[in-house]
Amino acid sequence: MDRIVCGDDIDFEEFLAIASNILKKGGVDTTIAVDKESMRIVENGKLCTVLKKIGVRFVPVSYRVSEKIFISLEDMGFFEDIKPSRYRVFMDTEELLYKNWPTPLVKLGNLSRDGRVVWAKLEGFNPWSMSVKDRIGWYMYRKAVEKLGRDKVKLLVEATSTNTGLAIAAMCAIHGSKLRAFIPSTVSKTGEILLKIFGAEVVRSPKTLTVELINDVEEMARKEGAAHLNQFYNDANFEVHLRYTAKELELQIREAGIKPKAIFGGLGTSGHMSAISFYFKNRFKEVKIYGVVPALNTSIQGIRRVETGMKWIHYVEIDDVVEVTPEEAIEGVLEIVRNEGIFVGLSSGAVYTAFKKMMKEGKLGEGDYILIFPDHGFKYVEQISRYIDKE
Ligand code: PLP
Repeated sequence: MDRIVCGDDIDFEEFLAIASNILKKGGVDTTIAVDKESMRIVENGKLCTVLKKIGVRFVPVSYRVSEKIFISLEDMGFFEDIKPSRYRVFMDTEELLYKNWPTPLVKLGNLSRDGRVVWAKLEGFNPWSMSVKDRIGWYMYRKAVEKLGRDKVKLLVEATSTNTGLAIAAMCAIHGSKLRAFIPSTVSKTGEILLKIFGAEVVRSPKTLTVELINDVEEMARKEGAAHLNQFYNDANFEVHLRYTAKELELQIREAGIKPKAIFGGLGTSGHMSAISFYFKNRFKEVKIYGVVPALNTSIQGIRRVETGMKWIHYVEIDDVVEVTPEEAIEGVLEIVRNEGIFVGLSSGAVYTAFKKMMKEGKLGEGDYILIFPDHGFKYVEQISRYIDKE
């Protein structure tokens, strides 16, 4: 990748079509042709863009005309993106995020029964927001700097239900920018305080969903010349999960020697589960993907119903969407912590409950199941304590 420069812009559907082909085949069957003197791409430029986005170390190149030859993902260094520091030494707090991946995949032995083994991917082990959202905060910020230049990424505005805001605020702290976070009325006091602790300016809105705030945020961005990363529409959200979250999960299931029957995860922007679905449906046909949402007219921080509008889920295959009430989500959290000693957030409780519901309905056979737990439980102590007081 030293001398040839792959472009970054590509239509999203075209990106998916090319990426699907690469993932299905486990490689590419052509080189990218470049001009020998200038190293400018003369053929297969879009392939180059897609390879860059899915994260390969080496792009197969030939001079003048492309060559029909198969080059595997391994040969292109596709899996080298995931390179944890062996003894956990990091040169700064940004490396602490991306050089610490994969987040743990842990077998929940006490919650595994009747031939079904439950594995949890603990996104609460990300260092800033202690959530899956560190990944997108990091990537969207970096992409914005790449595209707009550092001077245009001084003030950022974002609608958030806490986690994305914390992740962007951490990037702002590291790089000397400022975040104005717009939060809906449903976000807990703890979320608001945490955002302020991280140095964000917080604007609380009477609106109930993060997605309803987008127009307000967009207008503010225009008025103040601020950068709006916009987690709901920014394809960097999908991309970072494809390039890292899904890829590292493949390495983990290989190490564990498991072939998951299904993967369960919550839907907010739909970024992480859409990318996981796209990746796994292309790489391993058999795996089922289940999305988890709050029951009608209820709210669980971080996830929301599909009809409230989400982008990427409409481009990928989801086998079923499971509804969970906030009470069931809390009960799920308590069952996890009281059986496994690991404290996860409400949407993780919802994901676990969804798995149990499908199991009780007889829809899950014996085998391995992966649950993506989006965050740590500490942010939800308020809500859980109210429930425990009534218990
Ligand atoms: N769970 C929690 C706690 C979250 O904060 C989020 C996103 O905000 C999600 C689940 C959903 O993730 P995604 O936006 O990738 O769908």
